[in-house]
Amino acid sequence: MNEPWRDYLRLGLNHHLLFPASFESIEVHRHSLPEVLSYPEFEVIDMFLANDAKIGMEEAELVISSTREPIYNCPLMIGPARNPHSPDPAIRRDTLEEVIAHLLRAHEIGARKAVIASGVNPGEALFAEQTAYFVDYVIALCQAVPGMEVLIEPFDRSIGKNLLIGSTMEAADVVRRVQERGQPNSGLLIDMGHIPLMGETFAGALQAAKPYVRHIHLGSCVMSNPANPLYGDMHPPWGYEDGENDVPELIEFLRQLFEIGYLGGESKPTVTLEMRPYPDMSERQSVDIFLGKLDEAWRAL
Ligand SMILES: [Zn+2]
Repeated sequence: MNEPWRDYLRLGLNHHLLFPASFESIEVHRHSLPEVLSYPEFEVIDMFLANDAKIGMEEAELVISSTREPIYNCPLMIGPARNPHSPDPAIRRDTLEEVIAHLLRAHEIGARKAVIASGVNPGEALFAEQTAYFVDYVIALCQAVPGMEVLIEPFDRSIGKNLLIGSTMEAADVVRRVQERGQPNSGLLIDMGHIPLMGETFAGALQAAKPYVRHIHLGSCVMSNPANPLYGDMHPPWGYEDGENDVPELIEFLRQLFEIGYLGGESKPTVTLEMRPYPDMSERQSVDIFLGKLDEAWRAL
């Protein structure tokens, strides 16, 4: 491909995975956000606001005054007393309220897309019942913030997160059911690093997601070595030891994005790098390598 990727897509960077210590430390979260917002190559930032009123407000102002489009990644609802499809109605209600609060904050900082996921996989016997609860949950989120595109990110049911949803096919089926009940503002986010863990191929996952895909995460995962510290769904960088994805896989994934028409159409869709830094390298040095690999893959298309 001779034309630059910038002519085809709006590139994003995931803040919290480039600075994974920000999951545990609100101070790291606050101090690393301006750095990510200052990187000139990115038009989009995948992020969430710190769970602290004052710091969250400061961060909101930073995002609003930047020229970046925020895509709000809601935290996973898998902690104690949080599950979007729990059999316990009180847990379902509390989870819904918490995520609506995130969506309202997302709306305030100008996000037009927000990412959600299902909760813990309850096992085959409860799949149908809990999927029905999850459909109701997504409908309630879409109704609560009608201007927001609510995107479900499918996760694995294997060695990583083990969530209810699930295969890409099942995620697409949830969106179809939500849309049939009158909520067009629902869709899918497909993560390149989740696909090997889900036992799917890039072509298979993207074909299943095709009618609904509205955002993309680029990254990798580790499946072959349980002793690796990033074994499972830990968002290692491309080309990381024991990892599944590097430039050859990126070439194939980008090819499939053109194949389903996500890339190459009239508008420039969003695509976000969602990886940790390389061991013993700074965040900025790691981002330079990500961009170099993206350039290399793009030239090979
Ligand atoms: Zn992701």
